[in-house]
Amino acid sequence: MAKKKRPAGKATMKTSAPAAPTQVSPPTQLHDETATIGWLRQMMREFLEERNWHKYHLPRNLAASISVEAGELLELFQWITPEEARERCAADAAFRKAVGEELCDVLMYCMSLANAMDLDVARTVAAKMQKNREKYPAEKFFGHYERPLGS
Ligand SMILES: [Mg+2]
Repeated sequence: MAKKKRPAGKATMKTSAPAAPTQVSPPTQLHDETATIGWLRQMMREFLEERNWHKYHLPRNLAASISVEAGELLELFQWITPEEARERCAADAAFRKAVGEELCDVLMYCMSLANAMDLDVARTVAAKMQKNREKYPAEKFFGHYERPLGS
């Protein structure tokens, strides 16, 4: 069958979003012991790709978004006592779900910032934790915290 010729000068225009890329498969047994930071980062890359949202996920915007979502997480604890918070975190399913969702928002914006800046999260965390160990030696800070002067 012969192909129909398109009239000269008329370009076709896409009217719908491109097909969603194949989603990265979750680890077979999905939980924290099997999922990797790389998998979280790839999931976020695909979420942006499917929506053509890279233009919004710029480092400045992502830093702001992490702060906004951290505020939403904190809002869940606003006006409740530490004891109420402990009880709700342990036994209130709706509260636990809400906290988990805000935690996810913070975490996934962190993944997106790492993607946008091409930062290796594991190496960055390891380096910062080494810095923290040196700043807060266990023998000096065991069981108490006091901010070192000048930091
Ligand atoms: Mg949120």
